[in-house]
Amino acid sequence: MKIVLANAAGFCMGVRMAVDIALKTVADEGKPVYTCGPLIHNPQELERLEREGVISLGDSERIPAGPVVIRAHGVTPETLERLEREATLVVDATCPKVSKIHDRIKEFSSAGYAVVIAGDEGHPEVVGLLGYASGDAYLINAPEDIDKLPDMEKVILVAQTTQDEENYDAISERFAERFLKGEALSTICKATHRRQEEVRRLAGEVEGVVVIGGKNSANTRRLYEIAVEEGVKAWHVEKPEELPIKELGALSSVGVTAGASTRLWLIHEVVDVLEKI
Ligand code: SF4
Repeated sequence: MKIVLANAAGFCMGVRMAVDIALKTVADEGKPVYTCGPLIHNPQELERLEREGVISLGDSERIPAGPVVIRAHGVTPETLERLEREATLVVDATCPKVSKIHDRIKEFSSAGYAVVIAGDEGHPEVVGLLGYASGDAYLINAPEDIDKLPDMEKVILVAQTTQDEENYDAISERFAERFLKGEALSTICKATHRRQEEVRRLAGEVEGVVVIGGKNSANTRRLYEIAVEEGVKAWHVEKPEELPIKELGALSSVGVTAGASTRLWLIHEVVDVLEKI
């Protein structure tokens, strides 16, 4: 079976940076180091990090004495204040691309703009983004949600960094029609763009696509959905044991991609199994 591995598969810069910062904090400060919520959406990598001394806490869990690393998704200003009060040390590993959106929201909000965020309700990055809006803020997910918004003069639109590009384009178009003075910012991360484009292309070249990553990872799920939309057989797996060996054995070519939180070693383990089919 021919295996085509996507170039953009796996860890993005922001997640890689957060993991490196957490491990460096363990090296500098000793075990354990806490993270406010899981550092990445990948159970296998989280287990590995836990063995190295990086412990993930629930969002509202009390912070034990010790250093806390803020993950790539970022947190609200209120959470940051709470961490600074409770933790012995706060290390900020918010992805610079997410911090940039925080700054834009803060800047526009304090100038009297309402903020419309295109994102997934409850996603930690979105919770963080909403926290930076000091005035009115609205969360939407689809182009038709624009019609449900109140009339507004000063308004900006931003996207969660891992939103689907086609959906955000449609939302932006509707936003521009409805809010003539509104401003739509382009905040989808290039890493997300590259991964989505590549899986679209891969789907046209192979008979099946294996997407590796946490079942709770929105960007990984989106890659799987894109492959399905492109009309190819697709599987979303977290580890090699989940591969449907029999079904894959019937294919002559398979593409492999992975979400932003998937480590290279896990991708290699999956490819090793595929190579033996
Ligand atoms: S997907 Fe992009 S914005 Fe999100 S953490 Fe990775 S590099 Fe940062």
